[in-house]
Amino acid sequence: MIRSLILAACVPFLVTIPLIALTAADEISPTARKLHFSSIVVDTHDDTTQRLLVPGFDIGARHEDGGIDIPRMREGGLGGIFFSIWMSGTITGADAVKRSLDQIDAVREMVRTHSADLALCTTAEQVRRAHADGKIAVLMGVEGGHMIASDLSVLRTYAALGVRYMTLTHMLDNEWADSSTDKPVHNGLSDFGKEVVREMNRLGVIVDISHVSDKTFYDALAVSKAPVFASHSSCRALCNAPRNMTDQMIKDLAAKGGVIQINYHVGFLSQKFRDAEQANPELGKQMTAEVEKRCANNEACQLVELDKEVRGAVAAGKLPRVDWTEIIDHIDHAVKLVGADHVGLGSDFDGADPPYGMEDATHLPRITDALLKRGYSEADIRKILGGNTLRLMEQVEATARSLAQDHATR
Ligand SMILES: [Zn+2]
Repeated sequence: MIRSLILAACVPFLVTIPLIALTAADEISPTARKLHFSSIVVDTHDDTTQRLLVPGFDIGARHEDGGIDIPRMREGGLGGIFFSIWMSGTITGADAVKRSLDQIDAVREMVRTHSADLALCTTAEQVRRAHADGKIAVLMGVEGGHMIASDLSVLRTYAALGVRYMTLTHMLDNEWADSSTDKPVHNGLSDFGKEVVREMNRLGVIVDISHVSDKTFYDALAVSKAPVFASHSSCRALCNAPRNMTDQMIKDLAAKGGVIQINYHVGFLSQKFRDAEQANPELGKQMTAEVEKRCANNEACQLVELDKEVRGAVAAGKLPRVDWTEIIDHIDHAVKLVGADHVGLGSDFDGADPPYGMEDATHLPRITDALLKRGYSEADIRKILGGNTLRLMEQVEATARSLAQDHATR
């Protein structure tokens, strides 16, 4: 989940896109198609959970808005997906825990009621098995350490319910970690924040450094005994957003076995889009005000209506159009820095504003096709599509096992 800086008031910047006439399958080479649909494609960040909370929403039906549902995941060859458990950092304490448990329950119930298509997975091996069984692997990540209410027992409960990563912060600092989009108050991770990271290692929960401040990133990297990842971040060298990663951060992440999962949000891909947003803060305020007028506090309504506003602004020439190929530019930039073993996909579908041509999961085969055209080997493409995520999960699982062993023999 992102929130546009110009729309930071309260509205998630979710986009709903009318289906476009072209389907990805029309343009994909047979080689790319074969490679794509025989790979385990994993997306490490989707905010579709928010839609699950809307009464009547059925993940099994094909929708004309948003990015994710079962028919479109099937069409795009998406084999594994992390559903984000998310709420604004302004919600804290017992309220945050209750809402997190409700969202975890919504994901689990979705799997239970669509068990012919979906399988809840907590290990890389389970993801592979689900794929072999023809099912889509469903995983969960908590997006924001504020949701544990500074209580390790809550973290343990989330892990026991199947959560396999936690983003240390969202857009606000929390009680123990600094965010990239807030004023630093802890100089990175507090002592308790470091304890949280150690407990995550012990539980086999991936430490996610998307959204965190640069200092929090380096603290987490130093403390974590397992590789860490950025579940949905792009390259700051190409788009200077504070929650994108610098080249040095990407190198340091990779040196410890980590993975940067490239975010598709236009405001993180395109400097041109970002500059236009910042040059016209009034536009953001107007769009937010318009959406609030139409929707009041109805979040589902806000998601749909804000998208219409943003796409309208692009159509009116007030914001630049960003094409899906910029996703490939970010992948390529990171691969040139650290090689193909440390880059993956973290779309932010249903929580951000995807570029033209990547409006939903049906378009994913384009990524495979484009990487082949840029000369990537089939083996490297399989890693980027999901192999790197599974490898990292295995390392995190192995670290948890070895920590349990250490404890048992002490
Ligand atoms: Zn996010």
